[in-house]
Amino acid sequence: MPFSRVKAMKILIIDDEKEMIESERALLERPEYELHAALGGIEALARLESEHFDLLLLDMKMPDLDGFQLLDILSDRWPDIQVIVVSGEDSFDAVSHALHRGANDFIKKPYAPKELITIVENAYQRWKLEGINARISQHIRESEKLHRFIVDHSPDFIYVLDHEGKFIYVNDRVKPMLGYEKEDLIGQHFSVLLSEEDLDKFSYFVAERRTGERMTRNVEIRLRRKPDEERRDDRYRDFENDMIPIELNAMGVYNEESDENVPGEKGFHGTYGVARDISERKSAEATIQYQAYHDLLTGLPNRALLEDRIRVAVMQSKRIKTMVAVLFLDLDAFKKINDSLGHSIGDSFLKAMANRLKACLREGDTLARFGGDEFVVVLPYARNEANVSLVAEKLLSQLRKPVEIDGQELFVTGSIGIALCPGDGQTMDDLIKHADIAMYAAKAAGKNCFHYCSEAMNAKHVNHLSMEQGLHRALKNNELLIEYQPQVDIESYQIVAMEALLRWEHPDYGRLSPSEFIPLAEESGLIIQIGEWVIIEACRQIREWRDMGRQDIRVSVNLSALQLHQENIVETVQQALQKAQLPGDALEIELTESVLMQDMDDAKRKLDRLNATGVKVAIDDFGTGYSSLAYIHELPVHTLKIDQGFVQRMNRNAADNSVIAAIIAMAEGLNLDLIAEGVETEEQLQQLKEMGCKNMQGFLYSRPLPKQAAAELLAANDEDARFRVIQSVAG
Ligand code: C2E
Ligand code: MG
Ligand code: MG
Repeated sequence: MPFSRVKAMKILIIDDEKEMIESERALLERPEYELHAALGGIEALARLESEHFDLLLLDMKMPDLDGFQLLDILSDRWPDIQVIVVSGEDSFDAVSHALHRGANDFIKKPYAPKELITIVENAYQRWKLEGINARISQHIRESEKLHRFIVDHSPDFIYVLDHEGKFIYVNDRVKPMLGYEKEDLIGQHFSVLLSEEDLDKFSYFVAERRTGERMTRNVEIRLRRKPDEERRDDRYRDFENDMIPIELNAMGVYNEESDENVPGEKGFHGTYGVARDISERKSAEATIQYQAYHDLLTGLPNRALLEDRIRVAVMQSKRIKTMVAVLFLDLDAFKKINDSLGHSIGDSFLKAMANRLKACLREGDTLARFGGDEFVVVLPYARNEANVSLVAEKLLSQLRKPVEIDGQELFVTGSIGIALCPGDGQTMDDLIKHADIAMYAAKAAGKNCFHYCSEAMNAKHVNHLSMEQGLHRALKNNELLIEYQPQVDIESYQIVAMEALLRWEHPDYGRLSPSEFIPLAEESGLIIQIGEWVIIEACRQIREWRDMGRQDIRVSVNLSALQLHQENIVETVQQALQKAQLPGDALEIELTESVLMQDMDDAKRKLDRLNATGVKVAIDDFGTGYSSLAYIHELPVHTLKIDQGFVQRMNRNAADNSVIAAIIAMAEGLNLDLIAEGVETEEQLQQLKEMGCKNMQGFLYSRPLPKQAAAELLAANDEDARFRVIQSVAG
């Protein structure tokens, strides 16, 4: 203890008689006392002016400056000095007078030696205690100052909550970190710093009641900055929703003896907490995480993430019994670009290409950069090889298009190797290895093409280089055909029209549905020729059925955007009608909302001209696009086809019912025909009937049928529509 070693007490003996001084000095000679003397009041004053004394032994009667006068000066200038009055006077008045003026004790001359020794000894004890006290409080003051300094300069937010969870102390950090002035928070409940969703999760930690081992230690939570606070500290700018990630240590504060005056838990005073801002650490972690899994140049997943995606895809495919396709893509002449134009152009090229390739893929597919100019595509839900080939074809056609960098057009091609899981492997290594081998086979076969890993699959591909060439050939080889799906009157089950739906009987892949090849046909422009064929074939078919006796029958044909905006679409339709000797209203064309919206003015011009020849217009998949009354009003539209999505979700989702009701009301208001697509159940039919829908198309009545079967159905329908319905539902 620093307080135990006390220095000697400085005593000044003041008397006008030398003998008195000497006798007192002799009696008090001890190591604890440091004795000094002054002969008379004036000399005493001079000594007091120049040094400090702890105790004065003061004679009252002195000729120059007496004891009373000196007491007055002392109480004025040195009130802390203890004074023992040593005097010949012992009247009560004199004693009281002296004590009144600040003397601490009194001894009467002549005194017994013991008396003097004891009285000084008492003064010494008092002095020693006071000294200890003074030093302790000095020490406390200093250490408190130090702690406050440490706390206020701490990089952490430090707080104390009372037993109700209200702030009673916050340090200076609160302003830069959370945007609050100290005064804003004092008295507030801590929940102002938590978002509503975090309140349940984190309240417990912030207002921790436990101590010791069970206190809150290094728990990561989020605190909310003061809303709308103008940001002073840029470091906090980036955090979404003003939430700051912090690491919290907090514990309950208890009183040893419980305090009756403080309500709540026995002895519980509140919570002491230290919150460390870890936003920098968090963003660094996020960056590191991102960099660990992405290629820095293109931002695409890297090998590590690719491995993960393949693993997940393979696992899922086992469960839901689909294929996973891994496509290994290598640019054929990228090295030339790099060598001749430099790496920075090469980098820009790769970036542009990566973006373009990504745009070909669906959500859920992965495009990863595997190495320099190598990319890997993972298709986790590949339905069949035809689909995979389509994607490969699309990727190749994107690669072939020039990339413009710094004003110059750069061309490359690519080669793709394909491995399929489960057939070609079930791990990333196997699948990549096989896709890589297949990629080299594609290069060997002349580049700019794709190649499957398995021999059997390749055998199918040697005959034709691509789906695109396949489609060209499909037209020539009569591989395209049309199926017809009836549209019937809901009440009478009378067939009012047939929708022409295109199919491709592929020599290798079997029957392909339009969604599997129409996108490619559109991309390559082949849709124009194919569409023309559909129109001519449909008109030929109507003629046949009309000749058969169904004079009223109409056929509807789907047109894609490219077809509608093609220059001579009106002439194409007119010629087809003429050739089959049909009136315009024997044909209806179906367009989706998005097709119409692509170029409204052109659409309107074309449709007006078709309408003038009697051709009807239906809006297909109605309700899924931009259902704006304004444009329907301006266009010569006759029919709205309620999208099958709404019909199928009917009764499961109230919103879909109200969409249907709104479409029905709209059709009535605009005097348009209405047909519900995709009707599969009696229940849907009943409901549509009740809602006032007049026509329907769907599996409930009939699937799309080959032309022969459609003809038979038409004939039978003429005789007994109802009977057929009952049969088809039962079958
Ligand atoms: P869409 O015009 O909306 O045709 C209706 C689709 O729904 C057809 O699919 C049909 O088979 C199917 N469908 C009919 N009733 C039901 C049912 O009750 N339940 C279910 N789940 N489906 C039903 P498909 O034949 O695969 O045709 C798909 C799309 O391809 C068509 O949609 C159409 O937009 C387009 N398409 C078909 N033929 C041609 C064509 O010749 N040219 C163009 N450009 N597009 C065509
Ligand atoms: Mg249609
Ligand atoms: Mg439709």
